[in-house]
Amino acid sequence: MNISSSFRFCRFTFRKCLSRRLQWDTCDRYYCSKSSSTDQTRVVQLKNKLACGPSFQDFIKSSDKTYDACNDEHEEYHIPECTTARSLKVYFETYGCQMNISDTEIAWSILQKAGYSRTHELPEADVVLLVTCSIREKAEQTIWNRLKHLTALKKRCQKHKPLLKIGVLGCMAERLKTKLLEQEKLVDVLAGPDAYRDLPRLLSLGYRGQRASNVLLSLEETYADVMPVHQTPEGHSAFVSIMRGCDNMCSYCIVPFTRGRERSRPLSSILEEVRMLSDQGVKEVTLLGQNVNSYRDFSEQHFICSEGSTQLSRGFKTVYRTKQGGLLFSDLLDKVSQIDPDMRIRFTSPHPKDFPDEVLQLIQERRNICKQIHLPAQSGSSRVLHAMRRGYTREAYLDLVENIREIIPGVNLSSDFITGFCGETEEDHQETLSLVREVGYNVGFLFAYSMRKKTHAYHRLQDDVPAPVKQRRLEELISVFREEAAKVNMALIGSTQLVLVEGESKRSSEELCGRNDGNVKVVFPKTDLPIQPEKPQMVPITSGDYVLVKFPCRLM
Ligand code: SAM
Ligand code: SF4
Repeated sequence: MNISSSFRFCRFTFRKCLSRRLQWDTCDRYYCSKSSSTDQTRVVQLKNKLACGPSFQDFIKSSDKTYDACNDEHEEYHIPECTTARSLKVYFETYGCQMNISDTEIAWSILQKAGYSRTHELPEADVVLLVTCSIREKAEQTIWNRLKHLTALKKRCQKHKPLLKIGVLGCMAERLKTKLLEQEKLVDVLAGPDAYRDLPRLLSLGYRGQRASNVLLSLEETYADVMPVHQTPEGHSAFVSIMRGCDNMCSYCIVPFTRGRERSRPLSSILEEVRMLSDQGVKEVTLLGQNVNSYRDFSEQHFICSEGSTQLSRGFKTVYRTKQGGLLFSDLLDKVSQIDPDMRIRFTSPHPKDFPDEVLQLIQERRNICKQIHLPAQSGSSRVLHAMRRGYTREAYLDLVENIREIIPGVNLSSDFITGFCGETEEDHQETLSLVREVGYNVGFLFAYSMRKKTHAYHRLQDDVPAPVKQRRLEELISVFREEAAKVNMALIGSTQLVLVEGESKRSSEELCGRNDGNVKVVFPKTDLPIQPEKPQMVPITSGDYVLVKFPCRLM
């Protein structure tokens, strides 16, 4: 078997493509008379009415077609009468990082509770919701194009689907509210990352012919009480959101503006969700947050609170004042990893500043916390790191890498880098390449700098590296990453690794694929195995099984 060492260079984009021309089915079901309502639907409608009650707004006629939900919190949730035959179907398209997958699960859980059902087929949809990303211009452009396509479709299908609604959720809703809603008139409903609870109401306003939006950012919202509906293809792994927002204000980054201030979900609600996932047979949980290891829960008085300020990684500093008290990431990791020793725990995306020794020691001690750490560096040049306001130097970053490797021997490291940031010289770029060689990562998420409005860099720095130079530097970085990743993967040859099976490989039904503890994707032959070492009875390997795989096998 040959070894290939390809790996991912960009964040996953989860998106369903339209592979065939859409044919909306005829929808006379939209106009069922009241008398044909099922009792169940009546109960749902009544419950909605009881829950919300009519407000002052119900008694006055609005002349403004564009409705800013932030200004009115007491609207009745109105689902059209035509939903009597079946509930309205929501279709989600998710763009960007894992946080957006988690947001989709939260938004879906809220809508499901409000009586909506879900479809994975666009032609069946009554509501199309795009969960969006603003991190780079290219990500936004993809969504603009998609929205234009969807609105054209909506116009074409007006006769058959008069109630079809298009909504934008997440970062783009937050950043481009006016443009999306009023200038381009591409969407009916907008909900920022902290406004998903408001979705049923926003949609109900949509059904009254209004364009509705809520992009208020919150200091507290963590959706702690919303049990997300996890939607992994094989059901053996799940994302669990543990904190939201970011206080770091790196000079290039839009996240603090689109996702707001840092806040952590109460530990007890995280533990409850992980226990539930364990009971459902989930074998791998990935804890999620913009800066997942900056977790700090102030809500749990009955746990012993950590004394004093957070211990940062040595040589790292923050732009904000040091925070005091609360339960820290090490407390959370400790408790989560004890729930089910057979459940793997991963976390992303961490910030390198929050890796004190106690977190690293815990990772080393606990068998089920994966020995793989994402350590976004962004640049190998201290000068550029300073301009990026990252709060560390190249030397401090390398010291951290050394400390991590000392405490967790054999750990796999991955990273994020940006090429062509404001003022980046050829020398700075060479320093980035040399850092990648020195550390030897096995996975990289590599990006060309994309200037974002509102950020410090937009106001104060010059986006002075020409696009072709950014691109050339990006390609050079990719090629150095490939070389280094190949070396890391080659070092696995001869070893036996515990692999969590994900399912059939994409290339062949005769093969299975899975990941080892270090998150390396492995393809191996499909075969039956004895139920126990000395027992003759054989069983097929299925997804969610742990198997020992002797390398070489195909590494992805
Ligand atoms: N919070 C994590 C950290 O700072 O270590 C990273 C999360 S951030 C949402 C994901 C990645 O997107 C960043 O690490 C950075 O490499 C990239 N990124 C953010 N803003 C960018 C921009 N304006 N242009 C290009 N890449 C960007
Ligand atoms: Fe963006 Fe920096 Fe916050 Fe990461 S730490 S989300 S890069 S501002």
